[in-house]
Amino acid sequence: MEKIASFTVNHLVLQPGVYVSRVDRDPATGMVVTTFDLRLTAPNREPVMNTAECHTIEHLGATFLRNHPTWAERVVYFGPMGCRTGFYLVVFGEVTSEDILPLVRELFEFVRDFKGDIPGAAPEECGNYLDQNLPMAHWLAERYLTRDLSDIDETRLHYQ
Ligand SMILES: [Zn+2]
Repeated sequence: MEKIASFTVNHLVLQPGVYVSRVDRDPATGMVVTTFDLRLTAPNREPVMNTAECHTIEHLGATFLRNHPTWAERVVYFGPMGCRTGFYLVVFGEVTSEDILPLVRELFEFVRDFKGDIPGAAPEECGNYLDQNLPMAHWLAERYLTRDLSDIDETRLHYQ
């Protein structure tokens, strides 16, 4: 089997950031979707996120995006990477990291500032509803915003 493109990125030097992972066009419909890697931790060099805080960021992030006044209808998917170093964000259209950055900042500000009951964290709405960690979600969002996104440059916006 061929190696898929995302495994060819050198994860040993990859920094946290906002990267376009792929742009796909459906040959049948011509519909284009862009997949972003929102990388929150330095792969293989920093501790990964625990599943509870990944899960909380997934619930809050999906809720935020699906309610966003301008992006809601363009969001295809938001969810955690299996390696727990970040999240995938898939949107309709060909979109650059520079284009999506304001939305990513807003998303993680929403997570950082969220108070109250986590949306969807109920047994009838989620498959593992007790597995949540809001304080760690706050901490990770704050670190991503201040350490990684505040004065982000080319090296953290495009795979080299
Ligand atoms: Zn859930």
